[in-house]
Amino acid sequence: MNSMDTHGRAIRRIVIVGGGTAGWMTAAPLAQRLAGDPAHPCEVTVVESPEIGTIGVGEATLPTIRAYNAALGLDGADFVSKTMATFKLGIEFRDWGHAGNRFFHGFGDFGPPLAGIGAHMHWLRLAGAFDKMPDLENWSVPSVMARHDKFVPPNEETPGMTDAYSYGFHFDASLYAAYLRDYAMVRGAQRIEGMIVEVEQHPESGFVTALKLRDGRRVEGGLFVDCSGFRGLLIEGALKAGYEDWSEYLPCNSALAVPCASVPALTPYTRSTAKEAGWIWRIPLQHRTGNGHVYSNAFTSDEQARRVLLDTPDGTALDEPRQLRFLTGRRRKSWVKNVVAIGLSAGFVEPLESTSINLIETAVGKLLELFPDRDCRPELAEEFNRVMGGRYESVRDFIVLHYKLTSRDDSAFWRYCASMKIPDSLRHQIELFRETGRVAILDRAGFAEPSYVAMMMGLGVVPKRYDPLADRVDVRVVHGHFAGLRDMIAQAVARMPAHGAYVADQAASTMASSRAA
Ligand SMILES: Cc1cc2nc3c(=O)[nH]c(=O)nc-3n(C[C@H](O)[C@H](O)[C@H](O)COP(=O)(O)OP(=O)(O)OC[C@H]3O[C@@H](n4cnc5c(N)ncnc54)[C@H](O)[C@@H]3O)c2cc1C
Repeated sequence: MNSMDTHGRAIRRIVIVGGGTAGWMTAAPLAQRLAGDPAHPCEVTVVESPEIGTIGVGEATLPTIRAYNAALGLDGADFVSKTMATFKLGIEFRDWGHAGNRFFHGFGDFGPPLAGIGAHMHWLRLAGAFDKMPDLENWSVPSVMARHDKFVPPNEETPGMTDAYSYGFHFDASLYAAYLRDYAMVRGAQRIEGMIVEVEQHPESGFVTALKLRDGRRVEGGLFVDCSGFRGLLIEGALKAGYEDWSEYLPCNSALAVPCASVPALTPYTRSTAKEAGWIWRIPLQHRTGNGHVYSNAFTSDEQARRVLLDTPDGTALDEPRQLRFLTGRRRKSWVKNVVAIGLSAGFVEPLESTSINLIETAVGKLLELFPDRDCRPELAEEFNRVMGGRYESVRDFIVLHYKLTSRDDSAFWRYCASMKIPDSLRHQIELFRETGRVAILDRAGFAEPSYVAMMMGLGVVPKRYDPLADRVDVRVVHGHFAGLRDMIAQAVARMPAHGAYVADQAASTMASSRAA
């Protein structure tokens, strides 16, 4: 055999442990790429236990989900219809920073750069000189759309000035997992229902060789993907990868989730409202509104948290709130030997900014990029762990920023957040922005400059200085640019359909095409 010939070492069976969002989001692209080719047989098997079930939350996403769906070749309207999805232009923050505060973190910028200098720098210059400068959000297309409950996708082929935005989705997590399950199984993925009670490992290498199910069945494999949720059945239970605890920066450790009846005016955004010991989410779907309270049980009781959630007037509760506990942090290594952890088994930063599903997309993409043979070279694991470790940390810093930059002192929770220690990487980002208006992007695959600007300014950080090169641009040109763009955005948004009407249209078009077929 040629020493470069890896064919004989190819993995013949990938076993995915868990059939939650992570499990099926992993199975779908693996089945698409690897299953069903008789010349290169490779089975993709998902083992799940209905008895344990899935976490059943995780319904808001980032725009990157569109690239994930597109790579699978999913039809947009069919996906919207089958998963009860709505469109997400960003997050409305209420009472964050200080009580009564409201701002929007949209998936878009604040207009194009002028003379190569970011729009927010020119805005800071004008805002420093003129009292009546309107809020920066007026130049964020998704923020203006959200304010008016409008939605239409941007023209991505020949984008104009008012197409500078993106969008993600809100969807029913269990319907999305089922949608991907059907997709994967049509492409040859296998599904085994059963409870794993034992993990067998090779006595010398420590590689996982098989899973034993309670009914006595054995499931062998060459590569195991641990999507078993917080349990980390393989990555922690068998391989003891270790967990880095981030709760000193991210003190929330509990959630109560409750489905509610839909309320009129389907909003094209997630709402996050700060409360005395955490925050409440509101996620609009076609058939219901998801509400949940994320809080720290060191600062409030579960009973009080439940009352706070049920006092929120957005829709009648359709069920009893469901309690969840978590520990923020990440697995020290998410790829060890022939086990790769994806989803909650790899870590959890917390639900604010909906980054978990995005981290699943990244991990699945990286696994395919670094796909191993049966040797599972440790160099591949090291590279995967380096990239994923960086991604988790940049997400952590961005979320910690939301808590740290508070001026609220109305509860022990917010006083803790304001005074807590933060990672040095984040301290640098905040100080740089506060002093100069510049944003240090430490992870190019993470949140971009407009997201930091929206969050820091929204939370009340007004930079002391702006880019001095902005002064070289004639102030009348800058004024003209801002006035013209603001009018253009207002007019474009006025012509857009209401979000609810757009969603109904998508759903109707799928029904019409399935009737025609
Ligand atoms: C309160 C809260 C809100 C969230 N909101 C968002 C959000 O808005 N956006 C976002 O991107 N993310 C969000 N997340 C995260 C998101 O829910 C998860 O990333 C996502 O659902 C993936 O979960 P999972 O598949 O890793 O785990 P799970 O859904 O827990 O699935 C685990 C699977 O493993 C199986 N399993 C476990 N043990 C065994 C065993 N012994 N034998 C057989 N099978 C087994 C289970 O049956 C199940 O199928 C939120 C999380 C929480 C806690």
